[in-house]
Amino acid sequence: MPILTWDYKQEYENERDDILDAVDTVFRSGQLVMGQSVKGFEAEYAAYHGIDHCVSCDNGTNAIVLALRALGVGRGDEVITVSNTAAPTIIAIDQVGATPVFVDINPDDYLMNTDLVEAAITERTKCLLPVHLYGQCVDLAPLKALAAKHGLVLLEDCAQSHGARQNGVLAGTTGDAAAFSFYPTKVLGAYGDGGAVVTANAETAANLRRLRYYGMEKQYYVVQTPGHNSRLDEVHAEILRRKLKRFDGYLAARRRVAQRYAEGLGDTDLVLPRITPGNDHVYYLYVARHPQREQIIERMSTYDINISVSYRWPAHTMTGFAHLGYEKGSLPVTEELADQIFSLPMYAGLSEDLQDKVISALREVLATL
Ligand SMILES: *Cc1c(COP(=O)(O)O)cnc(C)c1O
Repeated sequence: MPILTWDYKQEYENERDDILDAVDTVFRSGQLVMGQSVKGFEAEYAAYHGIDHCVSCDNGTNAIVLALRALGVGRGDEVITVSNTAAPTIIAIDQVGATPVFVDINPDDYLMNTDLVEAAITERTKCLLPVHLYGQCVDLAPLKALAAKHGLVLLEDCAQSHGARQNGVLAGTTGDAAAFSFYPTKVLGAYGDGGAVVTANAETAANLRRLRYYGMEKQYYVVQTPGHNSRLDEVHAEILRRKLKRFDGYLAARRRVAQRYAEGLGDTDLVLPRITPGNDHVYYLYVARHPQREQIIERMSTYDINISVSYRWPAHTMTGFAHLGYEKGSLPVTEELADQIFSLPMYAGLSEDLQDKVISALREVLATL
């Protein structure tokens, strides 16, 4: 049996009765779309964040699309973000007709270098879109100040950072809105696709509710601004409600896995994840760094251990974004990192036994380099 970077099957075995009960509850409710489970999950996810509004939707990419539109970002606008992110961050910006503008990242936490943001602001800049990548928050205070100074909206991409905190403040509660994904691998994952936007602003929330529902206030109502069909299914909403009750347990489990890696690998020449002071990391991914990444991946595969790379091709190097005009070398920290990072198996249900196999295999591989 290969050891995978992510696997939900043990978690499912542990939670099977509850998950099947959630499915049965929905199937017996008489309402498969936009019923009590969506309503309940939105209220509970908002309450978890201590924020007034949560609007669920069909996936994390569309959460960003809807949030951008709800905040008034569209054609001709520039959105400042990073190239070291999941491609969907950039896809969403493209989908609303806006242009992504990339700044480089910090060499220590691999997150947006906020010192570079002000120089990237132009007449057309409308939005700052920090990505809380791998499970820890971008330094939000300078971004909030820049947004206020230049009249920009601040949208947090929280797809990898459910439950992360910065100086005690939850990811997603600082910006004008925050987009979450509940793709199964995420820190809070459904059994299929899902997403949500949280916001403290009632008008933004009302925009989001219309936009995810064709642009209508309610069924068969008038469309003022044509929207999307971007609803979260009841069955995923009900499963997410059940999993939200266990959420702090998942975070604790991920942190235990991270701690064991730090203890088992801390004396090797791998660069392990570094936590920026003030941050509570939720370890969506456990990203290590080494210049001989390709040999490590290949030799780990002989132990039947799966190593993934997030992300091997920064967005600005992808052919689909060539029209943005970024030359190789334009984001040096991002590019160097992309050649060296790799992700070790990390999920709440990873057993100590499997993890110890990963650690000992990796130690053997490193010794042969
Ligand atoms: C997963 C992810 C998304 C997209 O979410 P989907 O639910 O897969 O559409 C967006 N941004 C980041 C940083 C992600 O990791």
